[in-house]
Amino acid sequence: MLLKNRAVLSLGLRLCSTHVTKGQLVEPGRPSSDMSEFRKAFSKAKHIAIITGAGVGAESGIPTFRGEHEKWRKWHSQDLATPEAFSRTPSRVWEFYHYRRELVLDKKPSAVHLAIAECEARLKKQGRSVVVITQCIDDLHRQAGSKHVLQIHGSLMETRCVSCRQVTGNRRSPICPALLGTGAPGPDVPDAQIPVDKLPRCEDRDCQGLLRPNVVFFGETLDSHLLTMVEKEIETCDLCLVVGTSSIVYPAAMFGPRVAARGVPVAEFNTNTTPKTEYFMYHFHGPCGTTLPQALAPHESEEI
Ligand SMILES: [Zn+2]
Repeated sequence: MLLKNRAVLSLGLRLCSTHVTKGQLVEPGRPSSDMSEFRKAFSKAKHIAIITGAGVGAESGIPTFRGEHEKWRKWHSQDLATPEAFSRTPSRVWEFYHYRRELVLDKKPSAVHLAIAECEARLKKQGRSVVVITQCIDDLHRQAGSKHVLQIHGSLMETRCVSCRQVTGNRRSPICPALLGTGAPGPDVPDAQIPVDKLPRCEDRDCQGLLRPNVVFFGETLDSHLLTMVEKEIETCDLCLVVGTSSIVYPAAMFGPRVAARGVPVAEFNTNTTPKTEYFMYHFHGPCGTTLPQALAPHESEEI
């Protein structure tokens, strides 16, 4: 009886961490892993928001630089991906990003990227939409063919001028001659100490300012124009997938729970449960390269 009361209380407080199936309360904090139920919701959705994170990049072999052992030389990414580090040691920070760019240029979109891109193209023909809201900076969603992508943490394949603020796409390898052969990650590799005038520079002749990677560094705010677009998607989607994200980095960690709070189905795909799992209607455990293509495959009700 006590348990039942608790369930009812939770249902009232956190409306969408629980749902009703066949007239029975499902225990809060235990999302369903019933793929056929998810597929029914998928078949009805007209506007799908897919939130992706480092786990999706990992499917393509891209390191997250989040774990304790994922260091570059002596540093974690939060020591290097900061405005302070960039202004103090732009050469070292550029070496780190040069290393990351070269890693990405060497990789291919995974089954997850391809399933999302294929789903967007297919549903578009049916008058339905898919938007990708990603924390990944590797650009692999676009490479896979996704058209509607909001890269909230920026892109490794873009630069921004620190003087004129111009943002430019750039997939050059190396990005500038002085970075050729640098960026090796070993703990004893010395800094290349490239003079600042030899680092990537703005191509506007009147500017020639220092370029930086167009990524959001730790401690910086996200682009407000982009966040406004994300807000609109979060407010209007009728199905949301949270894929390969640990849901600990804000503000992205709140996007899924905010959709769930509107009573809209949210499905999490992850190798682990996360601090936000209990908010969601569905949780599919395992590598998203296995679970997601299955979830987004053509539904029997679709006319292809
Ligand atoms: Zn410039």
